[in-house]
Amino acid sequence: MNQEKITELKKWMASEQIDLAYISDPGHIAYFSGYKSDPHERVLALFISLNNDSFLFTPALEVEDAENSSWTEPVYGYLDSEDPWEKIAQLIKKNGIPAKIATEKEALSVARFERLNHAFPSSDFSASITPIIEKLQLLKTPDEVTKLMEAGDWADVALEIGFKAITEGAKEQEILAEIEYQLKRQGIRSMSFDTLVLTGKNAASPHGNPGSTAVAKHELVLFDLGVVHNGYCSDVTRTVAYKEPTDFQKEIYSIVLEAQLKAMDAVKPGITAGELDEVARGVISSYGYGEYFNHRLGHGIGTTVHEYPSLVTGNDLVIEEGMCFSIEPGIYIPGKVGVRIEDCLHVTKTGCEAFTKTTKELQIIE
Ligand code: MN
Ligand code: MN
Repeated sequence: MNQEKITELKKWMASEQIDLAYISDPGHIAYFSGYKSDPHERVLALFISLNNDSFLFTPALEVEDAENSSWTEPVYGYLDSEDPWEKIAQLIKKNGIPAKIATEKEALSVARFERLNHAFPSSDFSASITPIIEKLQLLKTPDEVTKLMEAGDWADVALEIGFKAITEGAKEQEILAEIEYQLKRQGIRSMSFDTLVLTGKNAASPHGNPGSTAVAKHELVLFDLGVVHNGYCSDVTRTVAYKEPTDFQKEIYSIVLEAQLKAMDAVKPGITAGELDEVARGVISSYGYGEYFNHRLGHGIGTTVHEYPSLVTGNDLVIEEGMCFSIEPGIYIPGKVGVRIEDCLHVTKTGCEAFTKTTKELQIIE
């Protein structure tokens, strides 16, 4: 339960005269309540009320888990044979009809909105809670930074397992399976996104699909992975070589590394998100590969693997202490080569500290 952020949310609600906030995105529910779950098609909802009658609403089979989480306020459940929306309406009405109910407009189906709207026809549903959630998530508390650090440590462990699994003829999927198998044996329940292990020209697709391509001599292998640990995500990319790389591969690697290090060096309070993107893009463009860096420099990270800020040219958001995001430049030349180097970090008073520590010097696996 993130009491500090719930208090900030309530302050915003008071200033907007919102009586009740309905949080529907499972990642955002986890962020505030400390209870993380994927409800699939069932209803999982967090109702934050200004009148101290907030509650978490879950499928009946999850009530016990939710009560054992760090959420300390009431948890109510519903059986599959019951109508969740009738129950929700009753629970809210116990304390009167809210005049103004804010919803997550970016994360609420029309069907669910209509059910709630139908139960409270006189309430004002015009307010969206999405912008304030994004704003609250931008600045991490020291406790959140600690959790992100721990998730980063596990990503370093995952890379080490992956590097060891590289042998001649090993398929991308086999290396990937080895990483996830070992992590699960060590207690990691889920990855923060589908693990990427890409080799040779497959690595030239930034979000490629690992398959049956085997590692060959003098090829690069790109790993992009992360875990969920205590509800917080990690995300790291390293590109390594199997046997001595070619001069061309080394050249591309050194350019991406220079871009990544210069952008990390530039991170400090006061610079803008767009300026950081331009630092890395400037390096890559100066070597003539600008057109092959075809995505933004980075994204925020927290309870979800992609959140604000977005490090993209033109974003004039000013970087502040406590923000957490990735720095992940890459060069992808179709059919030839792909290199990306990524760390996530938190902004300190004077600079930044990365959550992942695996070396960025080009590793040559023998
Ligand atoms: Mn990333
Ligand atoms: Mn990544």
